[in-house]
Amino acid sequence: MSTPTTPSAELLREVALIACGRREGKTRSCRSCARKAPGLLSIATTGALDALAAAICGSLSSACQDCRSKAETITGITLDAPCVA
Ligand SMILES: [Zn+2]
Ligand SMILES: [Zn+2]
Repeated sequence: MSTPTTPSAELLREVALIACGRREGKTRSCRSCARKAPGLLSIATTGALDALAAAICGSLSSACQDCRSKAETITGITLDAPCVA
């Protein structure tokens, strides 16, 4: 699986879903999280956890614990992914 130039739609969907809050039975994020996904993904590839968490939370300065753990999850999946920058 090497698609170095474009972020896979699947990865974006996954990122959006995590940011939106993954629950059992929920298979897709809301529109606003889907729109945020490309930005979140590019932050995630820089490895800036704090910035990623803040972006998910929608706060510029600090993120809640929930969004911090979402950020960790997203960084975890993007590390396995090909370069998406
Ligand atoms: Zn959402
Ligand atoms: Zn939050």
